[in-house]
Amino acid sequence: MPLHIVHHPDYDANFPADHRFPMGKYRALMEALQGRGLIVPETLHQPMLLPASSLRLAHDPAYVDQVITYAVPPAIEREIGFAVVERVSRRAQLATGGTLLAAQLALEHGVACNTAGGSHHARRAQGAGFCTLNDVAVAGWALLAERLVRRVLVVDLDVHQGDGTADIFRGEPRAFTFSMHAERNFPVRKIASSLDIALPDKTGDADYLERLRAVLPELDARARPDIVFYNAGVDPHLNDRLGRLALSSDGLRERDRTVMGFFRERGIPLFGVIGGGYSTDLAELAARHAILFETAAEFAR
Ligand SMILES: [Zn+2]
Repeated sequence: MPLHIVHHPDYDANFPADHRFPMGKYRALMEALQGRGLIVPETLHQPMLLPASSLRLAHDPAYVDQVITYAVPPAIEREIGFAVVERVSRRAQLATGGTLLAAQLALEHGVACNTAGGSHHARRAQGAGFCTLNDVAVAGWALLAERLVRRVLVVDLDVHQGDGTADIFRGEPRAFTFSMHAERNFPVRKIASSLDIALPDKTGDADYLERLRAVLPELDARARPDIVFYNAGVDPHLNDRLGRLALSSDGLRERDRTVMGFFRERGIPLFGVIGGGYSTDLAELAARHAILFETAAEFAR
């Protein structure tokens, strides 16, 4: 069975090519996945916009209203890094719907991936750091609210700390948040996850994978998850513009295989979101993000 993949053409909000956020990567990723034979009509899914009531599970009602009416205050837009105009709001809402759809597909088929998502700096009250809505937190709350799962685990391996996800799930015993990130990277003020591992600059493949392998049994024991939300940000790559770590592409592949193998061996559904990745070379960046899908395809059956 091919991998179930969630995608929407409007994930790309059409930023100018020189924008700090590489918006073109969504289109480039789809082209990379098509080139690898991973896009199959029967297992390609398109998300819909979620009702505002779903977004309010994770975000303050006032902020949800601001996002869906394109009325986010300029001060918050500055923290996000772009204006939340209609196209941007739509892409954030679609990516959130896509992450929830990927979660539902994972519950049904074991593994699935969204070609967007991982907007982990969006906190309950507002967006920040290129993140408008926290798709993983919305999806997690939606699954819990509908009692589709009893407990969720977020494994966030984006190079930046998952402060927004930690904020939104803070104090919730059914959600366990884990972030392994570069200590000296954004955000400056981190919000404690259920468990954080802060790595020194220039951490390479061997040390990174050793820390990861060592912590997975602890995550499983403490979280006892019915589903794993995996943020497979590729910004720990040594050539990433914003990362401070030094993983190779093979290291990223081994990282993804390690996480997926661990939870799939235990029969726990898992789905991936692409998270961060920053490069002016979109083909190179798309190839890094494609690693998640290539690896997940090994586990799809
Ligand atoms: Zn990141």
